[in-house]
Amino acid sequence: MDANDVKVFGVLGAGQMGAGIAQVAAQAGLSVKLCDVSLAVAEKAKAGILAQLGRQVDKGKLDAATRDATGARIEPIGDKAGFAPCDVVVEAATENTTLKLELLRGVDAVLREGALLATNTSSISITKLAAVTSRPTAFIGMHFMNPVPVMKLVEIVKGTATSPETVELTRALAARFGKTVITSNDHPGFLVNRVLIPFLNEACLAYQDGVGSIEDLDQGAKLGLNHPMGPFELADLIGLDTVLAIAEVLQTQIGGDKYAPAVVLRNLVAAGWLGKKTKRGFYAYDDKGQRGAASLSR
Ligand code: NAD
Repeated sequence: MDANDVKVFGVLGAGQMGAGIAQVAAQAGLSVKLCDVSLAVAEKAKAGILAQLGRQVDKGKLDAATRDATGARIEPIGDKAGFAPCDVVVEAATENTTLKLELLRGVDAVLREGALLATNTSSISITKLAAVTSRPTAFIGMHFMNPVPVMKLVEIVKGTATSPETVELTRALAARFGKTVITSNDHPGFLVNRVLIPFLNEACLAYQDGVGSIEDLDQGAKLGLNHPMGPFELADLIGLDTVLAIAEVLQTQIGGDKYAPAVVLRNLVAAGWLGKKTKRGFYAYDDKGQRGAASLSR
């Protein structure tokens, strides 16, 4: 199979990443099956994609016919059995090893031989996830960035058994989606999160140590380091549960105090303040997702 043979594309997990991946695949002309814990959740995710495309129509960046055609290519499903006709499935469920192992076993069982199975995991071993499937050579990390329709990068992660053909197919598929690829070996956090997560955690530690405010640390990164977003704004966008899960993988898999997640991060996750997706994290957000004041002060 080469990338042009890929016609039916599955996405498991219809949260912020899964919805974005489904959108770019549908915009590239693929038929997309979008699955979550229930049909209702998958349908809600599709409605969110249509609303997002609708805003682009309102701004004159997209025509209504293209939006409608893109929407018509996305089929919400509530059961993994619906992935049977897929040439490629990308798993994009919550960053939890036990959950992903179970989900990938289930998807593997319904896919035909020769179909490719990928995961959007931010940090979990590709080799470990591949090993519970019947297709470790056709298993790969396809790590999109957030927000998927905007960010140009896809980080491809090769497991120990991933074949060169699978790497090439994934690279060509990412190109069909208009993305640029970098390639990582299978090591905790891969390339991007190996660098990003310690940076975000260090900002948490600096705040915790009383060095300064959340707003000033963000402003410092934007105006002092030329980052488009500050570390707390970015952590809220990613989701603090996801940031913590990645930090825990770095800590347990690489080891050492260097990767120990900050207490303030653990506390926010324990409080259920997960960032923009729950309207509260390091900052508060209104119903339109507009950022308000910092949630924590000293
Ligand atoms: P999210 O919380 O927005 O969405 C996770 C989705 O998984 C939810 O819709 C949830 O209902 C679904 N899910 C949970 N259990 C499920 C099950 N049993 N069956 C089907 N669906 C199930 O999280 P997200 O930010 O979209 O992250 C998803 C994946 O993408 C994670 O592996 C994360 O590490 C990775 N990722 C996240 C980012 C980011 O910036 N948030 C960037 C790159 C990669």
